[in-house]
Amino acid sequence: MLSAKYFDCMKVIWLFVDGLGLGKSGAQNPLYAPEINKLNELLLTAKPIDASLGVPGIPQSATGQTSIFCGVNAQKIIGTHLEGFPTKSLREIISRENVYIKVREMGLTSTFANGYWIDQNRELPHDRKSYASVSTVSAATGLGDVRRMDAILRGDAVYQDLTQESIVARGGDVEIITPVESAHRLLRIAEKYDLTVFEYFQTDRAGHSQDFDLAIKVLLNLQQFVVTLSENLPDNICIILMSDHGNIEDLSTPIHTLNKVPFLLIYKKSVSLKQNINDLTDILPATLEFLIT
Ligand SMILES: [Zn+2]
Repeated sequence: MLSAKYFDCMKVIWLFVDGLGLGKSGAQNPLYAPEINKLNELLLTAKPIDASLGVPGIPQSATGQTSIFCGVNAQKIIGTHLEGFPTKSLREIISRENVYIKVREMGLTSTFANGYWIDQNRELPHDRKSYASVSTVSAATGLGDVRRMDAILRGDAVYQDLTQESIVARGGDVEIITPVESAHRLLRIAEKYDLTVFEYFQTDRAGHSQDFDLAIKVLLNLQQFVVTLSENLPDNICIILMSDHGNIEDLSTPIHTLNKVPFLLIYKKSVSLKQNINDLTDILPATLEFLIT
């Protein structure tokens, strides 16, 4: 039987958006395009936090995401910002202390809502050569598996592009859906767990491409998703939106930026985090503390 405390507790959605910094307005920043107005207004209320973590150079995904998912300063531990997919030493950190392991140690439940278009028999990517991302390694080692094809087909997973268009482009037999439907799927999943994680990385891809039209399309999808989530958010769920480094907010360069990244809380009932959030490493401990109080 579930305890009364279970029903009282707030649940959390981690909305991890790859490559979304807070940059200045101008023609290089698609967030300031009129059609992205709603998302930009929300992001202007976010706390800008540091993604560099005291290490010289431009923040990158493998280290930044390890810092978020494990609450450690991964860039400092390995002495550099590492792009792409985690190396053996980062995978060791991730498999030892990722968010799902920490939530379980507290007696709480968590899930990774992303669906993978692979069947039950296929092995998950597990190293750098097989393009195992921080989120995949975290789910594989912290939860044992990810949501696969069958979950996508019954609507019990959210595909990373929010529309399933990229599955269709690869020849997959699945319907194209709207980011609105993806948002409802995420909310249905989030009702069942204390912490639900979702990753959107089309923002980083569009940033590297410097393609303004693609950036607008990707941001419109994200905006529709976030607006639907916030308009339909139950009182007992709060969303934490975060990113690992800047990129899409400055299309004048194909590389990541030094801009700060958003820490955005979205909620219906007023909530507050006790802990101060100043950089990527603060997100996990603050979330854990929030979940038990
Ligand atoms: Zn990138």
